[in-house]
Amino acid sequence: MYKRQGLGIELSNWKFALLDAGLLAILVALIAHYAFVRPKDRQIQSMMTALEEARLKAEELARFDSLTGVLSRRAVLEALDEEVERARRHDNGLACLMLDLDRFKTLNDNHGHQFGDKALRRIARVISGLCRTYDHLGRYGGEEFLLILPETRLDAATAIAERVRLAVADTALDRNDERITLSIGVTEWRSDDDGSDTLIAEADWALLEAKAAGRNHVVARRDADPPG
Ligand code: GH3
Ligand code: MG
Ligand code: MG
Repeated sequence: MYKRQGLGIELSNWKFALLDAGLLAILVALIAHYAFVRPKDRQIQSMMTALEEARLKAEELARFDSLTGVLSRRAVLEALDEEVERARRHDNGLACLMLDLDRFKTLNDNHGHQFGDKALRRIARVISGLCRTYDHLGRYGGEEFLLILPETRLDAATAIAERVRLAVADTALDRNDERITLSIGVTEWRSDDDGSDTLIAEADWALLEAKAAGRNHVVARRDADPPG
């Protein structure tokens, strides 16, 4: 008979052996947990961190245009949707500009595609340099850019577009002073009925007018015929 003093518990030998076995099992379980399960936890944890980093990297890649570094088409359209919502809430003005390089195909044909790529990067930098921190510039298509100007009315946006047009026309693309111009269509958000599709259609329409006017032009929506 085993007797534990003080606690007043009396245990037979076989019960004591059982208690020992139980304690041993707990000890083994603890050792196994720290030896195998915890490192596994750490492995899973570091895998999850790596996955999260990869997800953030992929998100960033999708957000920016790989050639020019400005926003991707998807990202700039998302920004436009958000700004339209903000304009609906606060009615602070919102302008949308569609910019298209003039006769870019000829530049490619004359100087090669790589030169065209370099020109796209250069022009994107020139336009970015004229943007405020809260403007959104994105590559809408091949040689087309979309510029969103929050809290900006049509007149101010047209003045900014004119500054962009002049800056681009003034940019030498190489040592031989090769240059390119662009045409810009400008529109503004006016009523709750205007969604991002309306703004893009109107800016596009104004852009067509700018091309028809001989290129290297800025046309604001009020000067352009409404989209049919
Ligand atoms: P317009 O003044 O009417 O806009 O004439 P354009 O020549 O600029 O327009 P068009 O639509 O005829 O041609 C656009 C050209 O842009 C054709 C296409 O090969 C070129 N392009 C589109 N994306 C890229 C690109 O990423 N890199 C280069 N180098 N060229 C591109
Ligand atoms: Mg085009
Ligand atoms: Mg073009």
